[in-house]
Amino acid sequence: MRKIIIANWKLNPATLAAAQLLARRIEKVLALISSKRLGRSKKAEMVIAPPFPFLLEVGRILRRSSLGAQDVFWEEKGAYTGAVSPLMLRSLGVRYVIVGHSERRDFAHETDAEINGKIRSALAKGFFVVLCVGEKDRKKENFERFVKQELLLDFQGIPKKYSKKIIIAYEPIWAIGTGKTVRSSDLYEMVMYIRRVLFDIFGKKAAHSIPVLYGGSVNAKNANIFLEVDGVNGLLVGGASLDPEEFLGIVKSVSGV
Ligand code: PEP
Repeated sequence: MRKIIIANWKLNPATLAAAQLLARRIEKVLALISSKRLGRSKKAEMVIAPPFPFLLEVGRILRRSSLGAQDVFWEEKGAYTGAVSPLMLRSLGVRYVIVGHSERRDFAHETDAEINGKIRSALAKGFFVVLCVGEKDRKKENFERFVKQELLLDFQGIPKKYSKKIIIAYEPIWAIGTGKTVRSSDLYEMVMYIRRVLFDIFGKKAAHSIPVLYGGSVNAKNANIFLEVDGVNGLLVGGASLDPEEFLGIVKSVSGV
């Protein structure tokens, strides 16, 4: 299965000029890797998810990576001040949408019902949907049940036929932006558990074929550790994706260069 690396720029950088510069640097990194023609770089899919206002211009720069959005709204039009619809994103060349990121579940108080609406709407418009799930605290809660609940509620009523367009990012909240990371053995168990839940929701084929990524304080030094875990199909990278050198290291890990 192809590996997927998603760069989530979050609320960065501050200006369009800085976003264009970053996109150019990342493209240079990707060009460098593919010009070496080594390893399995062709099997890796790179996705860059800048903030909404930079999508169009960043999209114009990207050649070796696809454009992603950090969120999407469930309605197509109407009285929803500040919202951004799937059709608007599609018209900018966006192919991937991240949905249910823990930061949005937190500061924007996104509910599973809203996330479900976003998934429905984005899938119906042909996007790849990257659903983020993950527990807050491994010790204080039944973290497996927590993740299962998120998957069941967020995918409620989503037809099986869309499973080819679904990607899961397992992102334990305690690992996001903290420098803490999950142990390989724990990641393996969680990925297997997620696949069992996907089996219940979408059936056997989808449980094997839906890519499951890891996210949480990934950097150039540790990327390999997560990519080597059985059943992990890629990475969702936040902070380190804003640093072209770090990103180069991560892309090298996935490309086998
Ligand atoms: C993220 O943005 O989803 C993320 C995992 O961030 P970071 O890599 O900075 O922990």
